[in-house]
Amino acid sequence: MSELHKFLFDGLPVRGMLVRLTDAWTDLLERRAANVDTGAYPAPVRALLGEMAAAAVLMQSNIKFNGALVLQVFGDGPVKLAVAEVQSDLGLRATATMTASVDDTACLSHMVNMAGGGRCAITLDPQDRHPGQQPYQGVVPLEDAQGRKLERLSDVLQHYMLQSEQLDTVLVLAADDRVAAGLLIQRMPLKGEGNLGAALSHSDNEDQIGRNEDYNRIAHLASSLTQEELLTLDADTILHRLFWEEKLLRFEPLQGPEGPRFACRCSRERVGRMLQNLGAAEAEDILAERGSIDVACEFCGQHYPFDAVDAARLFTAPETQPPVSSKVQ
Ligand SMILES: [Zn+2]
Repeated sequence: MSELHKFLFDGLPVRGMLVRLTDAWTDLLERRAANVDTGAYPAPVRALLGEMAAAAVLMQSNIKFNGALVLQVFGDGPVKLAVAEVQSDLGLRATATMTASVDDTACLSHMVNMAGGGRCAITLDPQDRHPGQQPYQGVVPLEDAQGRKLERLSDVLQHYMLQSEQLDTVLVLAADDRVAAGLLIQRMPLKGEGNLGAALSHSDNEDQIGRNEDYNRIAHLASSLTQEELLTLDADTILHRLFWEEKLLRFEPLQGPEGPRFACRCSRERVGRMLQNLGAAEAEDILAERGSIDVACEFCGQHYPFDAVDAARLFTAPETQPPVSSKVQ
């Protein structure tokens, strides 16, 4: 079962999280493999997407944000876009779109950052967004401060977190065809009045970057975790091996219906709205050509067929439409 473990280091300004996606991850891979249009992901894309899914769960839980955290990697290369999306209840979905074949040995830059155009975007889309409100988005290049291409997603995200939150972070990520997993260790923001004023808190936290000895020791231990260990060992073994000399305060793991799990948000209503945005002329063209419009969700593979009658209903004035039966999704 997929699980998320949260823990604190007793008396120290350091917290951590360990996620292991098992059924949530294989569920996602099986749906993709079953899609006759796309087939299964090539191994490097699968590894990237798994690391993104694990990282998105860690980041969503870390900020406790009420809405969707969307992690995207895109740029120039055969992988047009990779997306992992995690809701505040830890329901997750992920997908990748390719425009050309991906070599079995392709690294991150070969997939999305051939000419340095690769980007990683983190979007926070609030659940109850009021009209006109834009979701928050942070974008970082897939390179370090010296302009060298980064080949590990964990390095990209560590850099992002240091920039956006002024908090030192260690991330270890790994994924294969059975498990997608991640370990996050982060220095906690300074407590006290400073935290009430964002500017003060930020500069105070910035002063602390790299200076907290307890954090540095724990970060060093965390960095020693290999991807192989992360994929093959259970959470208890990993935490014991890394931190047996530290005083760990562990919370009840989140698993099952409370834990990370595959959950798609697609619905016939949403697909209908998408077709409305496409426009009546475009829809009629497809109908004339194929007889019906079949939209497949790229996240879960669910098909939503619309025939001429369904389509006509979409494009009639709202007052003549029958009431929508499934208002609550
Ligand atoms: Zn779906």
